[in-house]
Amino acid sequence: MNTLLLLVISMVAGLREASTQDAECIRERAAMIETIRGYFRSDVGVFGQHGPSERVLEAMGQTRRHLFIPGRSCSVAYADMPAPIGFGQTISQPLIVALMTQFANVAPDDRVLEIGTGSGYQAAVLSRLARNVCTIEIIPQLAEAAAKTLRDLAYDNVNVRLGDGYAGWPECGPFNAIVVTAALGQVPPPLIEQLRVGGRLVMPVGPAYTTQQLTVVEKTGPDRTTTRAVGLVRFVPFTRSRD
Ligand code: SAH
Repeated sequence: MNTLLLLVISMVAGLREASTQDAECIRERAAMIETIRGYFRSDVGVFGQHGPSERVLEAMGQTRRHLFIPGRSCSVAYADMPAPIGFGQTISQPLIVALMTQFANVAPDDRVLEIGTGSGYQAAVLSRLARNVCTIEIIPQLAEAAAKTLRDLAYDNVNVRLGDGYAGWPECGPFNAIVVTAALGQVPPPLIEQLRVGGRLVMPVGPAYTTQQLTVVEKTGPDRTTTRAVGLVRFVPFTRSRD
């Protein structure tokens, strides 16, 4: 057999392998969406009666979570559990991604800021619902890997920046919605400043290494906000750069 033929055969085999995995992932992904729906069919209580909208579930149904968690099988990637992504960080549980996305209440023309890019998955979900997503990650290797994944998957309306998200990203704002995926004792004031009037910020507020209150802040006027706690969550700490 000549080399070219062998190459073609191995390429076809590789493609078949990829498509088998994709087919399996489609089933696992659909099951994940049903699991999330199921929480709100049963009387889950903590997050209120209203689950994520069909628009949010559709965005999650289209986002290939397994490609954001390298080396993980689809059964792990689509289980309703957080998963390690290296450097002591985790990709959030799908239910929590759905809820945070729902509370962010993103419209198609919106500009969104995320603090804590991690794997890039939450940013990818948000980018399907918004015009533009800017996301900041403090760990260089994670920022680089997420930027590559998002670029390879053609999420062209997501910008990733390396840095401490405490100060937000004024050049990218003002924002209609801000999603913070790391826990801190208080909401960073610069983020409220960069929120548009009518905009929402969703963030776990509370001490590190225990549970926090998932908090939704709405900017009701240039100097006015309303804050509500919507349920207990457990997030990795929001760290501060030392410079
Ligand atoms: N949204 C992510 C999960 C994030 S885990 C996803 O979909 O995969 C929280 C992330 O916040 C971690 O990657 C952590 O490094 C990052 N982080 C913590 N403090 C930060 C800060 N001050 N600025 C930016 N990112 C921060």
